[in-house]
Amino acid sequence: MNPFIELGIRHDIVNAISELGFENPTPIQEQSIPVLLTGSNDFVGLAQTGTGKTAAFGLPLLELLDFEENHPQALVLCPTRELCLQITNDIKNYSKKMHNVNVVAVYGGASIMDQLRQIKRGVQIVVATPGRMLDIINRKAIDFSRVKYVVLDEADEMLNMGFQEDIDNILSTTPDDKKTWLFSATMPAEVRRIAKKYMDNPFELTMGEKNTGNANIEHEYYIVRARDKYAAFKRIVDFNPDIFGIVFCRTKIETQDIAEALIKDGYNADSLHGDLSQQQRDKVMKRYRERSLQLLIATDVAARGIDVNDVTHVINYSLPDEVENYTHRSGRTARAGKTGVSISIVNAKELGKIRQIERVIGKKFSKAEIPTGFDVCEKQLFSIVHKVHNVTVNEEQIEQYLPRIIEEFKDFTKEDFIKRFASIEFNRFLDYYKNAPDLNAGVEEGRSRDRDDRAPRGASSGPSAYTRLFINLGSVDEFNRGDLLGYICNTSKISGRSVGKIDVKGVYSFFEVPNEDVEKVNAGFAGAEYKGRPVRIEVSGEGTSDRRESSGGYRGGDRREGGYRGGERREGGGYRGGDRRDGGNNRGGERREGGGGGFRDFSGKPREERPERRRRY
Ligand code: AMP
Repeated sequence: MNPFIELGIRHDIVNAISELGFENPTPIQEQSIPVLLTGSNDFVGLAQTGTGKTAAFGLPLLELLDFEENHPQALVLCPTRELCLQITNDIKNYSKKMHNVNVVAVYGGASIMDQLRQIKRGVQIVVATPGRMLDIINRKAIDFSRVKYVVLDEADEMLNMGFQEDIDNILSTTPDDKKTWLFSATMPAEVRRIAKKYMDNPFELTMGEKNTGNANIEHEYYIVRARDKYAAFKRIVDFNPDIFGIVFCRTKIETQDIAEALIKDGYNADSLHGDLSQQQRDKVMKRYRERSLQLLIATDVAARGIDVNDVTHVINYSLPDEVENYTHRSGRTARAGKTGVSISIVNAKELGKIRQIERVIGKKFSKAEIPTGFDVCEKQLFSIVHKVHNVTVNEEQIEQYLPRIIEEFKDFTKEDFIKRFASIEFNRFLDYYKNAPDLNAGVEEGRSRDRDDRAPRGASSGPSAYTRLFINLGSVDEFNRGDLLGYICNTSKISGRSVGKIDVKGVYSFFEVPNEDVEKVNAGFAGAEYKGRPVRIEVSGEGTSDRRESSGGYRGGDRREGGYRGGERREGGGYRGGDRRDGGNNRGGERREGGGGGFRDFSGKPREERPERRRRY
């Protein structure tokens, strides 16, 4: 018998979840479904994200509610819009073979009128973020007087985000005899308090040790000097060619800087933070979900509720300010029974924080060594070999070219051919890493570092004199930073690597170049026109900057010239090989075209991020 039937789930739901690939219940489902199906308990489930908790409460709700009645009977509160949509979607999928099931998602940042209309039409399950829910309650547009079940999902996150008061107000509109089911990844005192406040002798279920992270996650840390952090990070990424990761930074600025530096250096990355408009966030998330992006650089707040399976690595570029956030971050990997690695790049002074996290999650970190340049080259080589071995050949398309290709290689032995083929990519890595230093902290000071492993803006890197230039083109000419970088490099023939901060305004923009390149830029733009208008470059009155704003980086050019990542981008979102045409300067521009990453205009509406109360180290 299907194990879900044994748990008490009816056939039409089991048929639907079988189509989703649910063959066996996850541990939390196995243990909570029988309890929740009784409908007579309050419930506290201590479980990480990715353990299958949505079905753990969603399936019992579908069993318990009366879908002949069309009024709100269950309310699920969760911290973020992403999670809200995810839960709504999941419940719709579980119930797709049932009749008259109406689920509505209520969340901020979308039309309230649509949501009100859906509520008016009749709904049994409301899945909501607290702010918007309260708004709708205050408009007297919903009647919760017959709610039987309230689910508080990711309760710790909701409290972290300052939703305590909203939750109180929302729950005060529901009947006293409803049952409350609370799920939380961690159990800080605040969550204990709300459990006590809203629940009557709840059934408690702890999956694994209290506060322990998912058992399938390996925790690693690398010790590097602060100034080598970015280079070390890139090396870790290069050592993991198939990485599909989320990189956590502490601030929006750091998030954006790291993403920009990575994009400049040819990585398939983009950022997710609270200054992006909802539309921009959705776009980034869509690309990440579709795997057009390989690295998502995010703040804690922005990454809440991200539910993407198959994330291979979580990288803590900076450790979180609050210990609890580490659990949330690392819980983004190893979902649905998969394994994953949570990496922290720290300096020697931060070791104390690692020990503190170990105590909270009840698990030991292993200390890892930043791979040497040789290690990276070897890993990349075999990754190429593996890809060549496994590539799907389009027989029909390639056939017409085969005679010419065979003719070209007629004098090659098989070995010659293999060596050359593998070397196309391998040489780039060899060149890049040939003088790569040991980046593990503890190596003798004063040893020369790889000149091109420069840190991005914000990280400490050697000052270098820059001049800020004015240009009479801006967003009204439909330039964003990527376009402008491409345009500047093409016109002045300077390397994208040397361009520092770019500030796109309406009818004009500013950009920084090394002092020694100012002449070259002036010469390049002499007589230049843009759409029939003379282009004017002037040294900005704001003077020079000695801050090294640009990430530098060596890889962009290399990858552009046919790197396999470029190939991936092509698949992911229309990377047009056209950039190879331009001889190597138009870095930002070409990445913009690629499905993977690109400079963006980050001037979206600031998203409200709530004040947070957390435990600090
Ligand atoms: P959740 O913790 O609810 O976000 O679930 C994490 C992932 O596991 C989601 O992609 C679910 O679709 C998947 N999942 C949940 N339950 C099962 C199950 N019993 N079998 C297979 N996959 C599952």
